[in-house]
Amino acid sequence: MENLVRKNILNLSPYLSAREEYSEKKGVFLDANENPFGIYNRYPDPYQETLKQRLSEIKNILSNRIFIGNGSDEIIDIAFRIFCEPYRDKALTFIPTYGMYEVSANINAVELIKIPLNSDFQIDKKTIEPFFSDKNLKLIFICSPNNPTGNLLKSEDIEFILQNFKGIVIVDEAYIDFCDQPSFLEKIEKYPNLIVSQTLSKAWGLAGIRLGIAYMNESFLSYYNKVKAPYNISAVNQKIALETLHNIEEYEQKRNEILSEKTKLINELKGLKIVRKIYPSDANFLLIEADNANELYSQLIAKQIIIRNRNTVIPNCLRITVGTQEENQKLVIALKQISNG
Ligand SMILES: *Cc1c(COP(=O)(O)O)cnc(C)c1O
Repeated sequence: MENLVRKNILNLSPYLSAREEYSEKKGVFLDANENPFGIYNRYPDPYQETLKQRLSEIKNILSNRIFIGNGSDEIIDIAFRIFCEPYRDKALTFIPTYGMYEVSANINAVELIKIPLNSDFQIDKKTIEPFFSDKNLKLIFICSPNNPTGNLLKSEDIEFILQNFKGIVIVDEAYIDFCDQPSFLEKIEKYPNLIVSQTLSKAWGLAGIRLGIAYMNESFLSYYNKVKAPYNISAVNQKIALETLHNIEEYEQKRNEILSEKTKLINELKGLKIVRKIYPSDANFLLIEADNANELYSQLIAKQIIIRNRNTVIPNCLRITVGTQEENQKLVIALKQISNG
């Protein structure tokens, strides 16, 4: 797989931080120009070993398959920087999908090929096959469950791509904890070209700390570690993440509450005539079709209820995040008022 890595990254001598030269905890540390006073005065662990150990237990995967990023955004950006030569290489994704792949491609001067999903928001294998022979195509992003459509993509289709595409496949599983399907994490050893991306931003409730996780083979991991900023995860964030990852009970309770609220919300929305369609969802949000998405969006804004207008992506569609019982109730009341308009 090494031939997929850009030459400048293959040959890169990474920054060697003071904390890497001497890894023991005990000692008189006069090596990093830190302030000797305070609580957060020391640079954090550059490789977040304790946090990875915990993730390794929860996810049942070796900790030397884990990369932790400053949000999934960093994971996506680093993929472009390791594998894509600017102004030459390409990436591919299936639309409609998460907007960050395109932004990151543009920042890195990489062309993003956008293949439409079919009418069930699934991959049409025929549309992708011709691209497998493109030598400059390096990355394929697959978001499953997909944002903003909410559905899982068929695992056979993802495996078909993993088996036939010679470049890297990044499966973005930001919403995987809300569905009952197994993660592609289990297939890391089987497919050396697979990177699975997850996050603490959704089911774990930590969007504020910006912590994304990627699972990959050891070789790719070594390049991720070379390219990342030396101390990409702050000591405060490592601490909060670790505490949260030890509280599995609270995590499960919150997730189950979101899922039961989702079922209630679907039932309420079904009874409203301004809601034309509710798409099936494997995530913590619902994609709905309205008579007029722009109008509905503005009417809700006027009531200080903010949902995501996806009209420009899928005509007359809006994305609703499942909130607390109280928040969802406010939304339903507002929708009823608008409906009876
Ligand atoms: C919300 C979301 C993420 C999470 O991004 P972070 O940078 O980790 O907060 C990643 N991918 C998709 C598709 C998302 O919707």
